[in-house]
Parts: sequence; C-alpha cells; structure tokens
Amino acid sequence: MRAVTYQGLKNVKVKEVPDATIQKSDDILVRITTTTICGSDLHLYNGEIPNTPKDFIIGHEPMGIIEEVGKDVTKVKKGDRVILPFNVACGHCWYCTHQLESQCDHSNDFLHGDTGGYLGYSETFGGYAGGQAELLRVPYGNFVPFKVPEDAEMEDEKLLFLSDIVPTAYWSVDNAGVKVGDTVIVLGCGPVGLLVQKFAWLKGANRVIAIDHVDYRLEHARKTNRVEVFNFKKQDELLQHLAELTGGGADVVIDAVGLDSEKTFVEKVETMLKLQGGGLGAFRMATKLVRKGGTIQVTGVYGANYNAFPFGDLFSRNITVKLGQAPIIHYMPELYRQIKEGVFDPTDVISHRLQLSDAEHAYKIFNNKEDHAIKIVLKP
Ligand code: NAD
Ligand code: ZN
Repeated sequence: MRAVTYQGLKNVKVKEVPDATIQKSDDILVRITTTTICGSDLHLYNGEIPNTPKDFIIGHEPMGIIEEVGKDVTKVKKGDRVILPFNVACGHCWYCTHQLESQCDHSNDFLHGDTGGYLGYSETFGGYAGGQAELLRVPYGNFVPFKVPEDAEMEDEKLLFLSDIVPTAYWSVDNAGVKVGDTVIVLGCGPVGLLVQKFAWLKGANRVIAIDHVDYRLEHARKTNRVEVFNFKKQDELLQHLAELTGGGADVVIDAVGLDSEKTFVEKVETMLKLQGGGLGAFRMATKLVRKGGTIQVTGVYGANYNAFPFGDLFSRNITVKLGQAPIIHYMPELYRQIKEGVFDPTDVISHRLQLSDAEHAYKIFNNKEDHAIKIVLKP
C-alpha cells in the first residue's frame, strides 16, 4: 500500500510499504477514502514530537470503508463507512467511561501509560501507524470507529473533520466554559482556530476576536466567521489595545496555536525561555489577553518537551488554565447531527483537494502558509 512516511526534519515521503493488517481480534482494517493533514502533523514534521522513527506512517484524521474485521468485532462490519477519531481508546477503562478518551489507560504504555494513544503520532503516543495511507489498522473496533448511518447522503468532506478538528474545536469552547455574553479571543486562524470561532458564536459569545499574523487566514476568518481580526505582527501595542477594547481582557482566550511551526525547535525553546522576560508566543500572549479571573484554554499542542509555565502571573491574576488532548469519541454523534442539520458547515476551512501522492507538496505549503493553504484534503 502507499502511505505518507516520516523521514526526518521537514521531510515526508509517500512510499510503498507493507499492507496494514488485523493484529488483534477486536481490530478493524479500513480502506481509506479521504484523509487530511492536521496542524498537529506539523509538530511531527518540525521535529517537536520525540520518538518518531524513520518510515513511521503519519496521519490521524481519516475515514473510509471497512475491509475486514477481527473475530470479536460486533459493532461494525465489512463494508461499513466509518470515521476514525484520532484517539485510540479501549472503551471500558475509567477514562473512556468518564468522557476522557484521549487519556485511555490501555492505549499506550509509554512511561506506564501517562498519556493516551493516538493514531499516527509517534511512539510517544502509542506507536500506531497512521491514516495518511491506503489501508489503516484501527484497534478497539467495538469502540473507536464512528459508523456513518447508511442513509447519510453527505460526501466525505462534510464528515471527515469529525475525526479531530470539529470535536477538538467544540471541546475547546465547551471545556473553557464559554457562555452567553462572553468575549472570546481566539489565537490562531488555522483550521482549528477557525472552527473554534464558529463554536464560540454558537455558544452565545457576544464578541469573538481572532488573532494571527497570516493575512489570508485573517481575511478568511473575517469573511466566513464574521469575527474582528488583528494581525499581531502589524499592529503596535496590540495587547494593550485589546485590553482597552475588551475592558480589561477577554473572559476566555483560546490558544489554537501551540508551538509556532514557523520557527525551528531551538528557536522555539529560546523564545519560550525569553518569555519570562515578556516576549510573545501564543501562550504568553493568552496570559496577557485574558481578564483577571478569566480562563485560558490551551488547545494548541506544545509538543512533549516544552514545560516552562508562567506560574506566578497566572496565580496573582486568578487565571484558570485548561488544556490537553481533545477527547473526540463521545462528541462525534452530537456533532454529526449538527452537521447533518446544517447547524454549521465544516467544509469552509478546505483550501486544497490533492492526491495522497501529493503529500510532500501539501506538507510544505501547509507548514509554510503558502498558496493560501488552510486545510488540505488528501485522496488515497
Ligand atoms: P495551523 O498551523 O494551521 O494554525 C496555527 C495558526 O496559528 C497559523 O495560522 C499561525 O499563523 C498562527 N499563529 C502562530 N503564532 C501565533 C500567535 N502567537 N498568535 C496567534 N496566531 C498565531 O494548525 P491547526 O491545524 O489550526 O492546529 C492548531 C493547533 O491545534 C496546533 O498546535 C495543533 O497541534 C493543535 N491541535 C490540538 C488538538 C488537541 O486535541 N488539543 C487537536 C488538533 C489540533
Ligand atoms: Zn489532528
């Protein structure tokens, strides 16, 4: 089969690799019909996620048709159309039964299972081969896959983002406790930030402000989500200006950035260290944009290496910080319903539709913010 493989820093290759196969009796094997690249894949691409071996198959936002099921799989069958969430989760541990599938106790034994397992996201997160491929092995076939109802007439593109960014964005506002009347600032106008903006409105926010430094993305946010936009590289004294504009800061700031993919890892660590002295960087920016007593939700990924934290500032201003890997699985049915009923349209983040064989080019333009790239859908 063909698959997108990690080859080292800023280097992925589509290669011929051995076919994925069923390994356990509750696995399923899925023929991928549509997949996509996530901002989280850029952290792999930029070398921020440790333990990613050469030839590791990337990808955690796929959907497709079941080709084969293990003998203990009863929930789905060959021929079913399924969406695969990035969480690998058993369905019966404490975390899976308390709506925290992203921390499943059985999906990862790295450091005694102190994080859940994710499809296609390095050995650190379980070592599962990913879904930017023609075939994908999915563990826990009785819990993980979301079966698309047979009467659904929606094309893959409408449903694909239920695998990650739609539930992630929804969880971001839910977890942050956004409520009617709130002022919400969203850092980042990538696919995740753009969807977070939509859900902030749907939760009843009174004001939604978006920040980025890529003009075409800000313009997209302004047009499609009707948010106020600011380019932090072009506007002087932006933090102070926004503090005045919001009367002391936003109720909720959502960091949909993480480690900035533009910089090298060394530069990032240096920036982070300098932040103690007041430089920028999304999280530090969030600490300046939130009102006293407000909440920062960190959805952007800070890799597995970055642990510096401005504890004193947060403590003295009574700030709540919530964060983590989104639990996708339990949100899928409700968000499927909302897409079906037209409550929101996730497809307006799509900028490119390419072949899986174009993945090298796709990673490059997505990472460099070239060719107006926002979300790139790949067809195996
Ligand atoms: P993306 O790289 O396309 O978007 C990030 C955007 O942030 C870019 O447009 C970039 O220009 C902008 N940016 C950079 N520095 C900024 C700053 N200081 N302030 C404001 N904007 C800034 O990625 P994406 O696909 O939208 O994903 C966003 C983040 O969400 C990534 O870190 C990704 O790993 C993470 N993510 C987390 C989860 C989770 O479960 N927590 C799930 C999916 C994605
Ligand atoms: Zn993702």
